[in-house]
This record gives sequence, C-alpha cells and structure tokens, in this order.
Amino acid sequence: MALRVLVTDGMDAGAMEQLRKDGYEVIEQFYEPAELGKALRDFDVVVVRSKTKVRAAQIDEAKGSQLKLIIRGGVGIDNIDHKYAEEKGIKVMNTPRASSDAVAELAMAHMLSCARFISVAGHTMREGKWEKKAYKGIEIHGKTLGIIGFGRIGQALGRMAKGMGMNVIAFDIFHIPGIEEQTGINYVEMDELLAKSDFISVHAPAVDGGAIINAANIAKMKDGVVIINTSRGTNVDEAALLDALNSGKVYAAGLDVWAEEPSKNEALYSHPHVSCTPHIGASTTEAQKRIGAEIVDIIGKFFA
Ligand code: NAD
Repeated sequence: MALRVLVTDGMDAGAMEQLRKDGYEVIEQFYEPAELGKALRDFDVVVVRSKTKVRAAQIDEAKGSQLKLIIRGGVGIDNIDHKYAEEKGIKVMNTPRASSDAVAELAMAHMLSCARFISVAGHTMREGKWEKKAYKGIEIHGKTLGIIGFGRIGQALGRMAKGMGMNVIAFDIFHIPGIEEQTGINYVEMDELLAKSDFISVHAPAVDGGAIINAANIAKMKDGVVIINTSRGTNVDEAALLDALNSGKVYAAGLDVWAEEPSKNEALYSHPHVSCTPHIGASTTEAQKRIGAEIVDIIGKFFA
C-alpha cells in the first residue's frame, strides 16, 4: 500500500506531483485543530507551513498510529510541539535553507520601504492624494545596519546590505569561529549594536523570556532608528514599539511578523511610519519551489 502524505497548508504543485510519481498518495486538506489529531492517524507524513498548529493534543491523538514524520515547510518549528512529538516517536523536520534569500530580500525591501515611505505613499496615492512634500526620506547607503541573530537569513541580509554600501555589524548568542573573515561583518555585543545602528533587523528564532526589542533596548538605540522584524512577532514588544514610533524615538518600522497573527494591532499596522506585510517572508515562487524540492528529498530519504 502506498505511503500517505497529508499536506495541510499548501505546497508547490510540482513537488506534490513528484511525490505522486514517486508512489506516494498525497492528500491536500486543511483540518481545524479539533479534527486534525484524528485525521493524522491515517497518514505516514504530514506537511505543514505555519497555519496548522500541531500541538500536544493532536500528537496525543495521533501517537501510536501510522504517523511517523511531521515536516514544517519553512524554518521556525514553533507551531509544532516538536520535543513532545519526538518523545512520542514522531520525527519532526523542517526546510531551513530554502527560504533564506526570500526572507532577507523582504527585510531589505522593508528597510527601503521605511526609508522612502513606499508603503504609505503608495497607499495615499490610491486615495487620490499627491503628498509629494510629506515623503522626504532617508538613504540607507553609508548607514549602519545592526543584525540581531546572524544565522542563514541574517548573513544573507548582511551580504546584500554590504552590496548597498551599508556598514554592517551583527550580534548573535553564538559566535561562529571565523565568521568575521568569511563575511567581512564585525561581531559586536548587543549594547554596542543597539547604540551604533541606524537600522536594526531581527533574525533570531522566537526567543524565550520576552521580546528582544523591548522598551529597555529601544532606550539604548539611536534616536531615529529604523527597526525591521521578519523573524517572529514575539521578538518585538509591540506596545513599546508603538510608543517609540509615536514619540519619534523610532523613525520607522518594517514588520512582516506579529505577536498575534492575523494581527489585530491596527494602531501599529496602520501607523504612517510602519511598512507592513502579513507574514510573507518565504512566499516567493523560488522559495516555495526550493521548499517543495527539499520536502520531496526529506521524505525520499526518510523512507529509503
Ligand atoms: P538560523 O537558525 O539560521 O539563525 C538564527 C540565529 O539566531 C542563530 O545563529 C542563533 O544563534 C541566533 N540566536 C538565537 N537566539 C538569539 C538571541 N536571543 N539573540 C541573538 N541571536 C540569537 O535561522 P534563520 O533561518 O536565519 O531564521 C531566522 C528567523 O527567521 C527565525 O525566527 C525564523 O522563524 C524566521 N523566519 C521567518 C520567515 C518569514 O516568513 N518571515 C521565514 C523563514 C524564517
């Protein structure tokens, strides 16, 4: 009997076709949390993106069944109780490399959007306005970018930013030996990064123990700093950021991820100095193809 793969949040069509050619039965269907655990019992693999949450309750319902593998098409596995799943004998895997360039490009797009009001200026034109004088921006060339979390996406953004004439510094809780020589980017301590950066972009995973961008850290930043977050919404204290935008301490913010998704924080996402997107960092044709290909590879190797 063919091995069964459930795809709950969509997947590249070519990759699903490849799985079918490889002999798997692939079903594309989203399940509400209450139905998901029971449904999982009939599949060998489930592929999720970020919409589906696989929590302990669903794992308890599915454990001991034919479910062997949960794949997160993407990077963060915080929507899966992955430690619990592994304890119950269900392997959890992700596709960590496939979307790095896509997310880094979105972070760069938000930096430029913040610097030049692209998001809000476009919006007002659609309202029939021509507010040419309102949108005198700033340049990113020659400015200092501080990257918090210098992993795959942080490094990809660092390369791009250097290419655009920025001075780039980075902070990471782990120091990769030789990283300065490899990237030409200097590691600094967090306080130095906060004090020196004109733009700060966060690329750490969801951090336990509170937001990285909180009121105390904002106070240590330069006046008029620009903050970009394409990592996880909980890494930014949204109330502290809104206060800082309103006071002018923070010049602008580019946000792809939100404390609650879909975000209900209208004061923040409709702020004139906020460039916002609805968690689309990995949503490019190329990244989704790479994610699909990586999933086909993971499944092939797992059942080889
Ligand atoms: P990665 O694991 O390659 O890099 C993360 C880096 O953060 C690591 O080097 C780690 O040491 C560092 N780090 C961990 N905790 C830290 C802390 N408290 N302070 C500073 N650094 C810390 O991950 P990545 O692929 O670069 O992904 C980075 C982030 O981007 C993750 O939060 C991921 O969930 C998010 N992401 C978002 C989207 C999107 O659609 N917006 C898509 C993919 C990934």
